[in-house]
Amino acid sequence: MNATLIRNGRIVDPANGRDEIADLWMVDGRIGEEPRKEKRETIDATGLIVSPGLIDIHVHFREPGFGWKETIESGARAAAAGGFTTVVCMPNTSPVADSPSTIAWIKDRAAAVASVRVLPTGTISKNLAGEELAPIASLAQAGVVAITDDGHCVQNNELMRRAVEYARMVGVPVLDHCQDYNLVGNGLVHEGYWSTLLGLPGWPAAGEEAIVARNILLAELCDHPIHCQHISAAGSVRLLREARARGVKISGEVCPHHIALTDESIQDFDTDFKMNPPLRTQRDIDALLEGIGDGTLDILASDHAPHAGFEKEVEFDRAPFGIVGLETELGLFLHLLVHRYQTIGLPRLIEMLTVNPARVFGLKSGTFSLGAPADVTLIDPEREWTVEAADFQSLSRNTPFGGWKLKGRAVRTIVGGKTVWQA
Ligand SMILES: [Zn+2]
Repeated sequence: MNATLIRNGRIVDPANGRDEIADLWMVDGRIGEEPRKEKRETIDATGLIVSPGLIDIHVHFREPGFGWKETIESGARAAAAGGFTTVVCMPNTSPVADSPSTIAWIKDRAAAVASVRVLPTGTISKNLAGEELAPIASLAQAGVVAITDDGHCVQNNELMRRAVEYARMVGVPVLDHCQDYNLVGNGLVHEGYWSTLLGLPGWPAAGEEAIVARNILLAELCDHPIHCQHISAAGSVRLLREARARGVKISGEVCPHHIALTDESIQDFDTDFKMNPPLRTQRDIDALLEGIGDGTLDILASDHAPHAGFEKEVEFDRAPFGIVGLETELGLFLHLLVHRYQTIGLPRLIEMLTVNPARVFGLKSGTFSLGAPADVTLIDPEREWTVEAADFQSLSRNTPFGGWKLKGRAVRTIVGGKTVWQA
């Protein structure tokens, strides 16, 4: 028997309504009780938050196919350094994760090299083309935790309906990147003042809202959960609020950049501010904060999207969308939601990064219930630090947050009772 005591920390376990200074036992890789007379190790957590291991349900680990941007190994290291013990990776790899053999490859690779739990998703449509359904039942059998065409969006509402029905049959949730292709066209940045001034093609908020509305209708029609990824627009929050109040199985997630920055940041044409959906206005930020505050938006995620320097250092319209996020996520959310805007308190923040995402996928983690996996994140809420992209564990450096001073970070990440990262 292998027993470790995490001593004297502030245990915040929203799943069980706990917030107290106490000890936590990890026994043989699980949350346990004090053993009789085993050999034991002690971790002193005085002054630290002891949180269930953080979960990020939206990351791109780029393998197979784009290992120069990120590998499953380096992505997992970045996750561990950011305090995350479980990540859900998106299927827009090469080959695309639309077949059981690719899912098997990802799972094998993760088992061999990843220091955190890496859970694969499969696509909704074959080759992300939005024309024909992927073999959803076979993907579920191969072990995907959800289906999504992230980066793309199924435009055909009837096809999407069939996907949600299949997902319901095999018991996996549907995640959706909400983008109406006709409305968005070749849009690059939020359609508004700055897109007009800079002469860049606009990506209107309605392009997201139209698909959020579609997903609400389908979640209701099929009586099955649809989770809207990286919500960026005020109108989306309004739609979700109304639908959730009626009991529709619809949810939404928020990424740090969409509450940290506005479209004003694009005026230097710096491609580290180019993401999809784009940075929007202060009005949208205010609506996202309101949605987080009242529980309309109940999950936080990074949309960790690594790209190499040579790919981002090109003309604005030619650069790929996306930024790395795993290593700045917790610090930014603490900084923005708890300290700066005071939208929510720390227990609620931890809830949105643990038990709420775990619930979407039916995971056993995200809690300190007895017998749960001993996944633990120790957080120093007072530690001040500066974001240095050069220090990232990720293979990529594409962050708009370099030089930002943040307060609070993960100082130790434990997966299945084993320390996988320590500051
Ligand atoms: Zn996306």
